[in-house]
Amino acid sequence: MSKRTGPEKMQVSFDLDEVLFVSPRTHKTEPKLPFPLCKIFTERLRLGTPELINELQKLGYEVWVYTSSFRTERYIRWLFRFYGVRFDGIVNGFRHQKEVQRNNKTILPQKLPNRYRISLHVDDEEAVCSMAGQYGFRAYKLFAQDDEWKEKILQRAEQIKKMDQLSRSEL
Ligand SMILES: [Mg+2]
Repeated sequence: MSKRTGPEKMQVSFDLDEVLFVSPRTHKTEPKLPFPLCKIFTERLRLGTPELINELQKLGYEVWVYTSSFRTERYIRWLFRFYGVRFDGIVNGFRHQKEVQRNNKTILPQKLPNRYRISLHVDDEEAVCSMAGQYGFRAYKLFAQDDEWKEKILQRAEQIKKMDQLSRSEL
């Protein structure tokens, strides 16, 4: 049995489009993958993506992808593997439909990170970020080029971890 013991890891998730996948015309990006991989995996990663994700995992966070796109989990895993990144979980449009939206009569928000125990979600869309308070997760809005995005997200994650620990110890 591989039951996890000890304290649960805090989970952080990232949107893909306009967050981890950006255009080199508007953002600093990681280098292209070598040919022919760059013909298969055409997306470009925001500069510092592998570094930030590896750092978060080293600090004891689980890092997830939460995208409303319908890229397959397999495609996402492979693309990032070539950059030395392994995600702890991936939610794409299919999985969200199947596990979150399901047969609900009302249309739920396009992302509900709290359903996956995600405490901090990074997204470019105001529509997603503005749901955070109401649905019990926290959001970090990231869109434009920002040379300090890694530090800011690390700081935000650490802040949330401390607040959660504090509120748990007060129970
Ligand atoms: Mg997006």
